[in-house]
Amino acid sequence: LDSYDVAIVGGGPAGSSCARTLAQAGVSVVVLDQRDFPRDKVCAGWITPQVVQSLDLSLADYASGRVLQPISAFAVGVIGQSELVVDYERVISYAIRRCEFDDYLLRRSGAALRLGVAVRKFRFEQNQWVIDDSVCARILVGAGGHFCPVARHLGAAVGRTESAIYAQEAEFCIAGTTSHCAIRAERPELYFCPDLRGYAWCLRKGDYFNIGLGREDNHGLAERLHSFWTWLRASERVPDCAPPHFKGHAYLLYPLPWRRCVADHALLIGDAAGLAYEHSGEGIRPAIESGMMAAQVILNTRRSDRRSAFETYRSLLEARYGRREVSARAPTMAGPWRQAIGRRLLGQRPFVRHVVLDRWFLHRADAALRH
Ligand SMILES: Cc1cc2nc3c(=O)[nH]c(=O)nc-3n(C[C@H](O)[C@H](O)[C@H](O)COP(=O)(O)OP(=O)(O)OC[C@H]3O[C@@H](n4cnc5c(N)ncnc54)[C@H](O)[C@@H]3O)c2cc1C
Repeated sequence: LDSYDVAIVGGGPAGSSCARTLAQAGVSVVVLDQRDFPRDKVCAGWITPQVVQSLDLSLADYASGRVLQPISAFAVGVIGQSELVVDYERVISYAIRRCEFDDYLLRRSGAALRLGVAVRKFRFEQNQWVIDDSVCARILVGAGGHFCPVARHLGAAVGRTESAIYAQEAEFCIAGTTSHCAIRAERPELYFCPDLRGYAWCLRKGDYFNIGLGREDNHGLAERLHSFWTWLRASERVPDCAPPHFKGHAYLLYPLPWRRCVADHALLIGDAAGLAYEHSGEGIRPAIESGMMAAQVILNTRRSDRRSAFETYRSLLEARYGRREVSARAPTMAGPWRQAIGRRLLGQRPFVRHVVLDRWFLHRADAALRH
């Protein structure tokens, strides 16, 4: 058995951020991931400046040999209708490719890495976790995303009673394409579904295009995405090519539904804990922040790993993202009149700029979490 202080299952942004904070403090930490890195992750790959700050990311270093697309404006509308352009006239976000971003963060974390093998079994004995009979650690961190095996082990009803967001996305290279494409790299486009239960995006990053749609329900997602693609083609927003192969994924939005993210000697972070922002579905920032907060709690409770000590972690999450109720309410479907008002508001520039973009998507009032 290889022995560590902390074992983290999952090497996405949550796992690598937690690992880095721990490794920097001299804790022996291993990250286990079922995939070899670099690996793809179904994601649009949009990050805010707060993410860059929390990660202490050197943009010049990151951009050398990787895609880092500055974003200074957004076009926002309803699918099939005209859009509003909000231009900030300075960089207010970035687009990255997850295959590059996650690999970069994991390699620089300083943790021992065990990649390419799925984690399946856990048992807790003699005051430590034993993982697949090959690794043992005093503390176990679940960072395995929505389907995290640690979350399952702690009792999450993954894919059963939980109401998740369903999303599909495709990222493809457009280098060498000569046909016209109206999407500008510094200005991603966001289009809400007419029933306001989700939104679609098209985003250009360097030579890559990312298109997708996420919704509160899984009903007809492929058909909706197909008609979105047809509409994009008809308006010459995307190059003249066959529809790409879309890949799907599910995840949870905070504060719904509720997953138990604290147990004896164990914590959940990132998507495993269901932390993505409610309106935008942005999950990279809460993944990184929760990884850093979990690491800080682990460092502060070295003498006692008991659950009561880890309850601090739950308090930190609630202080940052709002209170979470154990009896999770079901998502409410907006009635027709609310949808009509919502669609009207999406045509009003002050609402789009100050509410949709500044508050819901960019969280401009919320400062970055620092070490
Ligand atoms: C279509 C789509 C678009 C999105 N777009 C954005 C966006 O633009 N911006 C944004 O901020 N968020 C976006 N999100 C959300 C974001 O992708 C997630 O919130 C984020 O990846 C969560 O990070 P994480 O580290 O918690 O989990 P993940 O990134 O999912 O990493 C989990 C890791 O755990 C590993 N793992 C899983 N099971 C096991 C196992 N049994 N054994 C070992 N390893 C395992 C996986 O291989 C994976 O590497 C999007 C999500 C979707 C579905």
